Amino acid sequence: PSTIERHQYDVLVVGAGGAGLRAAIAARDAGARVAVVCKSLLGKAHTVMAEGGAAAAMGNVYSEDSWQVHFRDTMRGGKMLNHWRMAQLHAQEAPDRIHELEEWGALFDRTPDGLISQRDFGGHRYARLAHVGDRTGLELIRTLQQRTVALGIDVYMECTITELLQNGGRIAGAFGYWRESGRFIAFEAPSVVLATGGIGKSYKVTSNSWEYTGDGHALALKAGASLVNMEFVQFHPTGMVWPPSVKGILVTESVRGDGGVLRNSEGKRFMFDYIPEFFKAETADSEEEADRWYTDKTNNRRPPELLPRDEVARAINAEVKAGRGSPHGGVFLDIASRHPAEYIQRRLPSMYHQFKELADVDITAEPMEVGPTCHYVMGGVAVEPDTAESSVSGLYAAGEVAGGMHGANRLGGNSLSDLLVFGRRAGAAAAEAATAMEQRPAISDDDIRAAGEAALAPFEREGGENAYAVQQDLQDVMHNLVGIIRNADEMQKALEELVRLRGRTAQLSVEGHRQYNPGWHLALDLSNMLLVSECIAKAALERTESRGGHTRDDFPATDDSWATVNLHCVLDETGEAVSIRREALPTMPDDLQELFEQK
Ligand code: FAD
Repeated sequence: PSTIERHQYDVLVVGAGGAGLRAAIAARDAGARVAVVCKSLLGKAHTVMAEGGAAAAMGNVYSEDSWQVHFRDTMRGGKMLNHWRMAQLHAQEAPDRIHELEEWGALFDRTPDGLISQRDFGGHRYARLAHVGDRTGLELIRTLQQRTVALGIDVYMECTITELLQNGGRIAGAFGYWRESGRFIAFEAPSVVLATGGIGKSYKVTSNSWEYTGDGHALALKAGASLVNMEFVQFHPTGMVWPPSVKGILVTESVRGDGGVLRNSEGKRFMFDYIPEFFKAETADSEEEADRWYTDKTNNRRPPELLPRDEVARAINAEVKAGRGSPHGGVFLDIASRHPAEYIQRRLPSMYHQFKELADVDITAEPMEVGPTCHYVMGGVAVEPDTAESSVSGLYAAGEVAGGMHGANRLGGNSLSDLLVFGRRAGAAAAEAATAMEQRPAISDDDIRAAGEAALAPFEREGGENAYAVQQDLQDVMHNLVGIIRNADEMQKALEELVRLRGRTAQLSVEGHRQYNPGWHLALDLSNMLLVSECIAKAALERTESRGGHTRDDFPATDDSWATVNLHCVLDETGEAVSIRREALPTMPDDLQELFEQK
């Protein structure tokens, strides 16, 4: 361990997406010494892929909008399982976070009178998403990155954290390796902010990139924190279905927000057949009313294509199952017949190029074929809303890796704003705690040695299979047995399969050297993916109802007795098995409760 590269900071941020960068900026502003570590190059995080926009009730397009309406939409979209305090802080603070980005140089699209423009998205009562064409994430990252660099924050890129280091149960630092050289690195820091994003790579069809292996979820669990709402995985209704090499790549909801409609093989706008009771009062019941809504939101109700994502994904799934799908197993998404080519190219430039280049489809002239794709995990580290601190002292989580904010289903656009609101809160709280500390927790040489040995174990074994085969089988298991529609038998089977996959992972061997060796990196990521998958399957089996992103065909109804219960996953003392704990939802204060009684 004495030869291992070591660094000391007040705050270590793991992850350089929107949440990580916003946390680092806040921690630096609070006077802390800060470092950011990320697995890929700076600027390559998931956040950069975000297309549609960031939700904030600025009221630029509809002055009736307010944080209260945004809060209500978010809670209803999450089927009321969200932590009310997180949803409140998010709705209240998102506008300031967007304005602040603008002050830092972000160039948003404008309304005719020069305000930040806001677009429509599913589940949002008013046009609310601040955006830059369909490349919003790129502008967000560019702005935050520029500020991070200007503030002189240290960035360790292409560096993967494999373990959190603790002292007496509290956080003391983190251990990882440089992807290029394979050499180890240790950080001493009394505050660690996890901002590692999602888990999508556990599924076969996903909009997520190679980085999203649930590392932060697993690190938190192993450190003693709990993960909440893990049964809720969001399948975005519209991913590409063809050609096979691009299956799962996202087709932004902005296509529907800008007027695109879904049709089955008979040409029918089938979403009118899938309006649930819960949303009937606010959803149009004729094509005429739905179409009028785009220009007059005050006197018309929202088109059913803009119901929350879980509803739309299930409807598409049902149409395909009923034999009314498109040639490649999806449905049709049509914007070509709804707007002139010039409008489509201006509003959706990335989508236009994506389909032209990847599928040879001109979306200004013909419909797209789309189907559900694993997109986002609502579940994550349970945190205290105001500070984003987990139950482990010194460990904070923000962004997609944190849980509670989105309940059973996230509304589109609410992630980018979540990153900014809670990234800032996590960074500030982490800095305050670290700088106030008189005696810092030390990291132990024994722990560093053990972390190094664990990381090198796959090199010590010979003749085992390689990590890619196991990953592929894991993706099949999660896709086929814990996917968009679930039942007890299949999930039991999945859990048995996961035990087998865990056995195979423990026997993996890696060929070659430590220098840039993706097979080795995947072997290490796999144990995180397995742990997170076990959480998803166990929580999903436990929740015997359908709600939000969790649909069971053996319990198809929403059950009131589950309306006040959150499931938390924790690791048992052996560190080997996940167990599930039921917890009552925190009670919402009366003044917020009243918002649900008004229409
Ligand atoms: P990410 O941006 O995912 O960043 C995670 C960071 O953690 C990366 O830097 C990664 O390298 C690092 N990391 C991970 N593990 C480790 C490790 N072990 N060690 C070191 N570093 C690690 N949301 C919206 O609100 N609006 C949208 O329009 C929208 N569009 C989307 C489009 C696409 C195609 C996708 C995939 C998602 C979209 N989302 C959207 C969701 C949103 O983009 C993500 O939820 C959000 O960007 C996650 O941000 P984050 O900061 O939590 O993590």
